[in-house]
Amino acid sequence: MPIHYQPVECKSFLHHFDKKFLPFSWGANPYRGCEHSCLYCFARYTHEYLGYNSGVDFDTKILVKANAAGVLEKELSRPGWKGDIVNLGSVSDPYQPAEKKFEITQQVLKIFAKHKNPLFVGTKSNLILRDIDLLSLMARRTTLIVYFTITTLDENIRRKIEPRAASTEERLDAVKQLSDAGVTVGILFMPIFPYLNDDFESINGLVKAVNNAGAKDLVLGVLVLRASCRNRVLSFIDEEFPELLPKYLALYKTAYAPKDYTRKIYRAVETARRKCGFKTFEMPVLREKQMTLEV
Ligand code: SF4
Repeated sequence: MPIHYQPVECKSFLHHFDKKFLPFSWGANPYRGCEHSCLYCFARYTHEYLGYNSGVDFDTKILVKANAAGVLEKELSRPGWKGDIVNLGSVSDPYQPAEKKFEITQQVLKIFAKHKNPLFVGTKSNLILRDIDLLSLMARRTTLIVYFTITTLDENIRRKIEPRAASTEERLDAVKQLSDAGVTVGILFMPIFPYLNDDFESINGLVKAVNNAGAKDLVLGVLVLRASCRNRVLSFIDEEFPELLPKYLALYKTAYAPKDYTRKIYRAVETARRKCGFKTFEMPVLREKQMTLEV
């Protein structure tokens, strides 16, 4: 599929949101749209605000914020800016293939590093290793956590649900290299697909693998079928795993799987975590680190 890149000028780069359950309230995205084309992506609807569709347009019409670094420099220099944590990649992957060509993420990383601004970076791409020296430096100067989404060790399933993202093996290798370079890496183990990657063996294998790679945090999430992805996911299940469709329809009467199902999954992950001695950190630890760095 040909990809169309459209450079745009942004007026602001940081955007504020108010979600009490998240440890940050600022997000930033060097690109709009995302070439990774994940089946379950629920950011797709954001492309409709631009006059595009949330299907193939989201995957192939990529807006490139060409002036992002200059705008960010001004935003972080404002007297009112308090140095809050920013989540880089809150809507689309900052290390999607476009980054190889345009390097906007690298440019804004340099600005965040210059201001020692606390940062979370979320990705599914090992292209992040290109910036390992910069990230390692930032990790010594401020709070920095790289979050890798890793959903399954089964490459066959991974290819179907995240067709253009890095393989799980590549992501695990990136987790290891970043951890070895002193960068704190967390794992977003989400979405957990009922009946596909939710058996104990799969969960245990993944928890063990990310622990061995040096990950320090594990955030879980069972598949949510919001309106923006419900039909897409159910059509996929129907095509690829037709025997599971009745089970999905029974489980997802609403966008969310029932609580007893999610509790069962959370217990399984907890058991796997304890089994291999994976200790997740708590956010207060990060605040302490930030205060120490600020002294
Ligand atoms: S990497 Fe994230 S933003 Fe990109 S398609 Fe996948 S879920 Fe959506």
